[in-house]
Amino acid sequence: MEKTTNYEKPLPQIRPDTAPFWEGCKRHELLIQRCSDCGTFRHPPRPMCPECNSLNSEWVKVTKGTVYSYTVVHDRPMPVLYLPGFANDRPLAIVLVELPEAGNIRMVSNIVDCRSEDLKIGTPVEVVFDDVTEEITLPKFKPTA
Ligand SMILES: [Zn+2]
Repeated sequence: MEKTTNYEKPLPQIRPDTAPFWEGCKRHELLIQRCSDCGTFRHPPRPMCPECNSLNSEWVKVTKGTVYSYTVVHDRPMPVLYLPGFANDRPLAIVLVELPEAGNIRMVSNIVDCRSEDLKIGTPVEVVFDDVTEEITLPKFKPTA
């Protein structure tokens, strides 16, 4: 996707626990954290497994999912949408994508290449990457062809 130099939307703060996730995105790989001891997936990334309290984890590449739920913002009900960077994004579809390759954990994202009126729960999607700055690449999803 096109690289933007004057990106006006909020950007994630990369922390030690999330750095492998964002480094993967930069390489155009969606990596989900999995406990190395019991195999439980977790997202967002964090130090400890909620199932077995292990501090050991590994990263698993995933590529596809399904739309578990979504909302479409048509006019400024959310304060974040008052930011100038979102001025031309309405209607804006925000999706909750379920990732079967990662134990069906769900992540919030945006959908691209899909009109909001065509969006449906259960739509199969695949990850795509938006290089929004030199440092940050955001994972987004598009309907599977
Ligand atoms: Zn565990």
